[in-house]
Amino acid sequence: MQTSFTLAQLADPDIAESEKILRACVHCGFCTATCPTYLLDGNELDSPRGRIYLIKDMLEHDRPATADVALHIDRCLSCLACMTTCPSGVHYMHLVDHARGHIEETYRRPLGERLLREVLVKLMPYPQRFRLALIAAQFGKPFAPLAQVIGLTRIAAMLRLAPWGKAYRPLAPQTFPAIGTRTGRVALLPGCVNDVLAPQINAATISVLTRHQIEVVIPDGVGCCGSLVHHMGRDNEALAQARANIDAFGALAAVDAILITASGCGTTVKDYGFMLRGDPTYAERAARVSGLAKDITEYLAALPLRAGQDAPGLAVAYHSACSLQHGQRITRQPKELLARLGFVVKDIPEGHLCCGSAGTYNILQPDIARRLRERKVGTIERLRPDVIAAGNIGCITQIAAGTEIPAVHTVQLIDWATGGPCPPTLREHQPRAAMRLSTAAG
Ligand code: SF4
Ligand code: SF4
Repeated sequence: MQTSFTLAQLADPDIAESEKILRACVHCGFCTATCPTYLLDGNELDSPRGRIYLIKDMLEHDRPATADVALHIDRCLSCLACMTTCPSGVHYMHLVDHARGHIEETYRRPLGERLLREVLVKLMPYPQRFRLALIAAQFGKPFAPLAQVIGLTRIAAMLRLAPWGKAYRPLAPQTFPAIGTRTGRVALLPGCVNDVLAPQINAATISVLTRHQIEVVIPDGVGCCGSLVHHMGRDNEALAQARANIDAFGALAAVDAILITASGCGTTVKDYGFMLRGDPTYAERAARVSGLAKDITEYLAALPLRAGQDAPGLAVAYHSACSLQHGQRITRQPKELLARLGFVVKDIPEGHLCCGSAGTYNILQPDIARRLRERKVGTIERLRPDVIAAGNIGCITQIAAGTEIPAVHTVQLIDWATGGPCPPTLREHQPRAAMRLSTAAG
């Protein structure tokens, strides 16, 4: 694609990077075939190619974002399916991240939108605050239908997504020693939402790792990866959160890897090197952290895991989170691990399509998110699996809100099959699975 940035504009490294990306696009339109928002409504401006044109026009003319540009960019899930499909290697993620920053700087959203975004930014990256918000949401949940009827659709979406039950305390910084002779040492990014909503995910991670002689360290000072604010275009806050994590990981003695159990966070941590490329104090350390970052299944795939009990033989519908399959290009490992440990892995048709979770998307764009969830749940339920597995808490929460089939993190099944406890959700929600489990357990 031809561009017409001036030399003065190209002196800005962010513009120079985006220009490189834009020039790689040959506007063939292949990406439209796998874009969830284009698939739903068929509007070119809600396709990757359409968004690329909008971004090009906005950046080239150095224009403030208009309401129309914000609308179509906001509707983008950042699922990155377009990057997997693109034959020209267009790095849409960096382009749309740049555009979101430009929109945040130049466009004033309506008051309600600004307030909602502010609430999300002030609550979700902070586990203690998020925990209190979840406790409060228990009282509000019965009013979700009322909120929907009176037009507070985003509040309704938030209340519906807040799971019933306890909100947990996040894991404190500590070291979990390896059981037996230590053969490895890893750092764990506990994640901000992960631990409060589903502490069993990190518990399973620590359990399977320590049982396989790996020491697990949760560093002091580690916090939100920054993706939540990054996807809202709040670049300075995202970079501050990234720097805090880089400092926290940097203060540790050597580790073999930095493990992440929420693939949305993993994609961002793996991008720290790029995000901080222009910061002379952090660039090198950021690249080092990104180089060490691994999804939990990526790391486990290299360990000699063995099934520790009779293979449960449950049918698992494996939902490949967009951030894992498109953002990190990890597709094989989770399924191979599950199959190796005795599960019957069922591929979900239209597996490239997002479930509608996408960070805070299911709150900010509840209608599109609901339609995508219904489509995803429909394809999953037709498979009649015993359990759904995914590698991202956002997807697990989103899908679980639309089906009775229990949804767990892949690592929980891996831990269970190698001698850890059965995921609690499996026992509670799925009599058929629980029955098969007790048969398998003997
Ligand atoms: S597939 Fe790639 S090259 Fe073709 S229009 Fe989409 S982004 Fe551009
Ligand atoms: S990131 Fe996803 S929603 Fe956004 S343009 Fe690409 S395919 Fe479409």
